[in-house]
Amino acid sequence: MTQTVFTFGGNALHTNARQRDKTVTGGKGANLAEMASIGLPVPPGFTITTEECVSYLQHGADFSDGLKAAVAEALQHIEATVGKGFGDASDPLLVSVRSGARVSMPGMMDTVLNLGLNDETVEGLANASGDARFAWDSYRRFIQMYSDVVLGLDHGLFEEALEIAKEDKGYYADTEMEREDWQALVSQYKGIVDDELGRPFPQDVTEQLWGAIRAVFDSWDSDRAKVYRRLNDIPSDWGTAVNVQAMVFGNMGDTSATGVAFTRDPATGEKAYYGEYLINAQGEDVVAGIRTPQYLTKAAREAANAKQPSMEEAMPDAYAQLAHVFELLEKHYKDMQDIEFTVQQGTLWMLQTRSGKRTAKAALKMAVDMVGEGLIDEETAIARVDPMALDQLLHPTLDPDAPRDILTSGLPASPGAASGKIVLDADTAEQWAQRGEKVILVRVETSPEDIHGMHAAQGILTARGGMTSHAAVVARGMGRPCVSGASAVSIDRKAKTLRIGNRELKEGDTLTLDGANGQVMAGEVPTIEPELAGDFGTLMEWADKHRRMRVRTNAETPEDCRMARQFGAEGIGLCRTEHMFFDAGRISAVRQMILAEDEKGRRAALEKLLPEQRKDFREIFEVMAGLPCTIRLLDPPLHEFLPHADAEFEELANATGYGVDHLKRRADELHEFNPMLGHRGCRLGITYPEIYEMQARAIFEAACEVAKDSGEAPVPEIMIPLVATKRELELLKALVDKVAVQVFGETGCTLEYLVGTMIELPRAALMAGEIAEEGAFFSFGTNDLTQTTLGVSRDDSARFLNVYVDRGIFARDPFVSLDVDGVGQLVELAAERGRATRPDIKLGICGEHGGDPASIAFCEGVGLDYVSASPYRVPIARLAAAQAALN
Ligand code: PEP
Ligand code: MG
Repeated sequence: MTQTVFTFGGNALHTNARQRDKTVTGGKGANLAEMASIGLPVPPGFTITTEECVSYLQHGADFSDGLKAAVAEALQHIEATVGKGFGDASDPLLVSVRSGARVSMPGMMDTVLNLGLNDETVEGLANASGDARFAWDSYRRFIQMYSDVVLGLDHGLFEEALEIAKEDKGYYADTEMEREDWQALVSQYKGIVDDELGRPFPQDVTEQLWGAIRAVFDSWDSDRAKVYRRLNDIPSDWGTAVNVQAMVFGNMGDTSATGVAFTRDPATGEKAYYGEYLINAQGEDVVAGIRTPQYLTKAAREAANAKQPSMEEAMPDAYAQLAHVFELLEKHYKDMQDIEFTVQQGTLWMLQTRSGKRTAKAALKMAVDMVGEGLIDEETAIARVDPMALDQLLHPTLDPDAPRDILTSGLPASPGAASGKIVLDADTAEQWAQRGEKVILVRVETSPEDIHGMHAAQGILTARGGMTSHAAVVARGMGRPCVSGASAVSIDRKAKTLRIGNRELKEGDTLTLDGANGQVMAGEVPTIEPELAGDFGTLMEWADKHRRMRVRTNAETPEDCRMARQFGAEGIGLCRTEHMFFDAGRISAVRQMILAEDEKGRRAALEKLLPEQRKDFREIFEVMAGLPCTIRLLDPPLHEFLPHADAEFEELANATGYGVDHLKRRADELHEFNPMLGHRGCRLGITYPEIYEMQARAIFEAACEVAKDSGEAPVPEIMIPLVATKRELELLKALVDKVAVQVFGETGCTLEYLVGTMIELPRAALMAGEIAEEGAFFSFGTNDLTQTTLGVSRDDSARFLNVYVDRGIFARDPFVSLDVDGVGQLVELAAERGRATRPDIKLGICGEHGGDPASIAFCEGVGLDYVSASPYRVPIARLAAAQAALN
């Protein structure tokens, strides 16, 4: 039988491969076992595997045979190690029950602390600890948490009772509550449970334990966990492990504390311990942002000008133990660690370690620094940085010289600049963002329920919470700028207003956040371009050294081309010429061409477009000097260019001399039921050859001009879209060749050029061997190839694909990350058949997948020559291509 429960701590020093495997025991469970095995102080405990969770969920919330017995045995291991009995009325063992998936999902799943308390054991805890106040405080915490997480009661009911109790006594802080006060509150809490559920709070500790285990498993399928999984591409069939561990108490007076820390600064990457702690508190107090924590180190406290003593100053012995553990952890894991710890009456206990989430800036700095320190090699450094995270570095930051109307400052929780309209709740953030508004989500503190709003927002501002609060952790993970703990901000949700000092703002007013220094500003502040040298440059250099595939860009304006070159693009993989047609100065000529009754009319309009297109291509060839440029001839259905509004029809009537009625009728005639499968792509070139003729002429004339002026001849790669048959390509290649001969004759200039095709249809992939007889290159248009292979409209899929991903039908949106199993087969087969006909055929990809790291890894496997991505994705693709090559 496979082992379903693993013990750690105490004398359970030896771990086997399954226990160290995060896919089996989850990140938290695997690392607890590993820490215990290298001799770090870990409270004893056990882990129930993720496989159990999957089986439980598959079997209608039923535990597998043998689990009860395995848990009972593992519980004895904890009891024996700490010398206390679970449910023992004289000296009870209390445990924590925590989730722990393969990857961390901060705050998305459930936790219960202080489990094992009831009306009897609370007395035992009071006697054994000699601190009755602590025992009753623990009991009320337990009832509150258990009722929320396991019994499903509104935790607001308990919060409210606590607030009233404090008010009655005239207290301000929880710490003023006396033993009798907690005891009275426990009675009230139990009353609430009875009233709400019609049954008493469970007194049987075994029932408590299984209730908590159930709740953790169930929380894998909570709404917020599902949203988080979708946003982070976490498959729904992983499940979570459950970790049950002896409680250690950070709330046993002033020699006790709890905290979270990073072995390096997760925001900047600086090699300095970084963290927060709270004296006389339990872990959830820090993470939930209920009390604002104090700094770990003296240096950080001084830098922040804070008064409350740092841990280094207030608890020097425990701090020294912690610093020693930091050193051991970095040496062992060879990476920055994010840890949770508790100090119980002067003794340090480790509750968690994991590779810490970090900003892109910090990831780069740490990777480059650690190579310098000899901790890791270049290849590891390349593997360490998440290509998608680079996106955070490539975007503009606030102009340091621009005036700032600073309202207040908070903690610089996640870097980057963001401007947008104030919204005060997550649903509004999502709604406004959907209608195209940029929003800043402002909350007292965020909770996991806000995750969709945080994702929709440009940036997040919270009034409460530290650097490790939910908002901070999630924002850093998402790359959203975030300022947290801005205590001057007070929110009136009813009035939809915000007071900051003596200024009042309302929902919809514009706010700017600087996540790098925590400033909050009124209005919009101008931005400047990002810094691409430094650690970024170093890592990119290493990546370029290790990658095989070339990286091109999808771009059609000189500005985009320039930016892509700065980001390291090695050519254009797709220039979509239709975008040029929408230009205000040309759209009228484009419409005249489309609405013309015959070829003569079309040619007259195309005549007007020719010099404009020539100018476009000339600029692009100049910017991309020396690099290959793939230019695609017109692709979309023509009616996309036609007017919709009456005023536009009138304007067009004036320009063409046709009546409005005539134009509307002509537009109706062009209407298609299924335009994506209609009169588009090379079908336009076949039916209206004069359009492609004009475009080919513009390309060749521009290339000849640039060759003459600069002495460096561009090599245009002319690409025919949506080809299904060899004959289409044959006809259109002949047309392009004919134009080339004409232009070369007229200008006296001869150039090298290629004619190739996109592979966007299953038939084209299947017939690639034949098509390669005509095409010198293939570029996989995986947007259309995905659409046509799956029979799923790329424009309509958003309505249902989320559900498909949630239900595990697709691991990821196939328009974002290539469906390797299905569409991938067509790509692979076309590459093989194309090469069989033409061994030196150039192969690339220009669908959106060309900028997606997982798809790039696939392209490496197929041996494509290049990937092409939008300009901001070029560095991502460079790094992903290096990672793929090293794999
Ligand atoms: C494609 O289909 O993948 C492609 C790049 O072309 P477009 O997105 O312009 O249809
Ligand atoms: Mg396409």
